[in-house]
Amino acid sequence: MLMNADSSKIPYLPEPIQGLAGIALNFSWRWNRYARELFWEIDPILYHLSGRNPIEVLRRVEPSRLAACARDPEFLHRYRRVLDTAALEETSEGTWFVSKYPELQGKLIAYFCAEFGIHKSVPIYSGGLGVLAGDHCKAASDLGVPLVGVGLLYLKGYFDQYLNSDGWQVDNEGQFDPFITPLEPILTPGDERSLAKVTLYGRTIHVGAWKMVVGRTTIILLDSNLPENQPEDRDLTQKLYQGGHENRLCQEWILGVGGVRVLRAMDIHPDIWHANEGHAGFMMVERVREYLEQGLALEEAVARVRATGAFTTHTPVPAGHDTFSSEQVEHTLGHYWEISGIDRETFLAFGRHPEIDHETFHMTACGMHLSRYVNGVSEKHGVVTRENWSKLWPGKKAKDVPIFHITNGVHLSSWMAWRVMDLLDDHLGPGWAERMHERAFWEGVLNMDDHALWDTHEQLKGHLQSFIREKARKQWREKTEEAMDLVAAGTLLNQQTLTIGFARRFATYKRSDLIFRDAERLLKLLTNPWRPVQIIFAGKAHPADEEGKRMLQRVYSYTRDPRFEGRIAFLQDYDLNSADRLLQGVDLWLNLPRIPMEASGTSGMKAALNAIPQVSTLDGWWAEGYTGMNGWALPVSTGHPDPDAADAEALYTLLEREVVPLFYERDRDGVPRGWLVSMKHALLEAGLRFTAARMVREYTERAYIPCFEGGTDGDEPPSIG
Ligand SMILES: *Cc1c(COP(=O)(O)O)cnc(C)c1O
Repeated sequence: MLMNADSSKIPYLPEPIQGLAGIALNFSWRWNRYARELFWEIDPILYHLSGRNPIEVLRRVEPSRLAACARDPEFLHRYRRVLDTAALEETSEGTWFVSKYPELQGKLIAYFCAEFGIHKSVPIYSGGLGVLAGDHCKAASDLGVPLVGVGLLYLKGYFDQYLNSDGWQVDNEGQFDPFITPLEPILTPGDERSLAKVTLYGRTIHVGAWKMVVGRTTIILLDSNLPENQPEDRDLTQKLYQGGHENRLCQEWILGVGGVRVLRAMDIHPDIWHANEGHAGFMMVERVREYLEQGLALEEAVARVRATGAFTTHTPVPAGHDTFSSEQVEHTLGHYWEISGIDRETFLAFGRHPEIDHETFHMTACGMHLSRYVNGVSEKHGVVTRENWSKLWPGKKAKDVPIFHITNGVHLSSWMAWRVMDLLDDHLGPGWAERMHERAFWEGVLNMDDHALWDTHEQLKGHLQSFIREKARKQWREKTEEAMDLVAAGTLLNQQTLTIGFARRFATYKRSDLIFRDAERLLKLLTNPWRPVQIIFAGKAHPADEEGKRMLQRVYSYTRDPRFEGRIAFLQDYDLNSADRLLQGVDLWLNLPRIPMEASGTSGMKAALNAIPQVSTLDGWWAEGYTGMNGWALPVSTGHPDPDAADAEALYTLLEREVVPLFYERDRDGVPRGWLVSMKHALLEAGLRFTAARMVREYTERAYIPCFEGGTDGDEPPSIG
């Protein structure tokens, strides 16, 4: 779907290249490698300075440069190729979904999520959940799965990270400018911004929305920042996960209830409703209310909502599930049960967990009560979720609880480097992306030429090194930091050295500091003059997580410890603009979650799509992804008196005895033949089993299609109340 090419955001383009405006206003340019090349080519410096933002490039480039592009036959040739690809997005013809399910033309899935990570210029994601939701929408676009995303527009976004010299995270406050993004406000026929109303604390809140186009998928982002609202209500949707528990409840109400009402106001009537994580659970309650309003009895209304609902839970960590006290719910939302026909008792029962305090509303329980299809996000997480929530199905053994799993995946064209794609073009022929799920075909990557793969990897490693250096240079210029901070920023890293990447949110269960448990032993490993090792850390702590910030500070302190010779670096402000560079340019990915706290994890998949093997505990996706050939796993330490100590010991031993020697074992041309075997297997498994295309096909086949066909209630519902 192309938007109007005459948008005022992009004032003037020479006639022969006017279509560039439409391309820049649809985020699919980001994963079309030829479109990316085109914007880069117009002005490489602007492209990078703007954080890879083509709207900024077109607004700020010299007119003479645009005129030159418009006259350059080579440029025009490439421009037309990009236009042709974009034109394919105007229909879904020939896509997987339309070919496989022609009878489902005109159906629609609503996908509700509190975060969407599409591009750095729209910072409405904090990490894994948002990036996953973004990848889900992109893959749905590729496959022609008819899906509309619904989320919130946090104008003050998620924060930029800045570390002071003590390594303490300072959360920068900024506001992003939708004008230099593809976002467009949605207006009523009378040009009004207010599309729907919800009630909070007995007050009416007007809800507006913005539209973000991502290939064939549209994402609708709700916003309470309208002149009709009281100043404090205008702030409700400004920030992601800040402003406390009270604000969170209001945001989830706007997302769930406001989301349904905004869709109705836009005359969009989905057939299936998918809540991605508990934050979106009120969407289901509102749909119960709609049916009651139409005159259905409560039981029938609940059955209909269940029959068309899917719910995905993303974490086994108890604190990751939102709960609200009944007083808080009553105070904030109580007005609803006076007018909705859903009385207090019924409302609270939707969110009730039979074991834990009855006066608490659990968003996850609400999702499970009101959806026919419920899933976790890896095989292991499926098992853990069935155990943790079996009480909702009294009398059922955990293994019989109807909670399933669909393992997460990542969007290939967003995460695989162009150079790796070029290599696959050369090696497997240009149609490889369509045939990756055929194991026999895709196993062809194992025969790839060693030199070609190693050269490609070395180039990507070089790109990361220069990215880090240029970022350090900019930090040095802008913030007049101590020289010491330049070491922390990675200026002493060496291109030839085995480079480990570790980038996670600084939550304690992810154990970013585990590798420092025996600092002397790590010191020996890193500073071995013949086989040195270096580590690049990145990631943010949640603004309210003091313990996470302290962990980050501890890790950061090692970057400044001269004994480590500058071999530990911290890449600040990890986001969608730096993640791909890191995930394409290290030699080894490291992941150390405490079992069973990791639901899936996705960054190791992104690294593996670039032929980068990982070392990890056997949790999340690695419990099913590890084959013995595509990286390394720490032995399971569950039951050990001190699992952290056992895991640290196993990690050191593994690195010392296997990983480091294998990396440095070279043939006469300097090529690590043994290491390349791991690299190829990493690529093979990730491409075959861990892409977002595979994930969205599974959601379609297991969650969406049965809902389209159903009308029945599916599996036995959990007991309510
Ligand atoms: C993929 C990604 C994440 C999530 O990584 P996990 O391994 O799932 O924790 C977080 N932030 C960014 C920017 C990402 O690209």
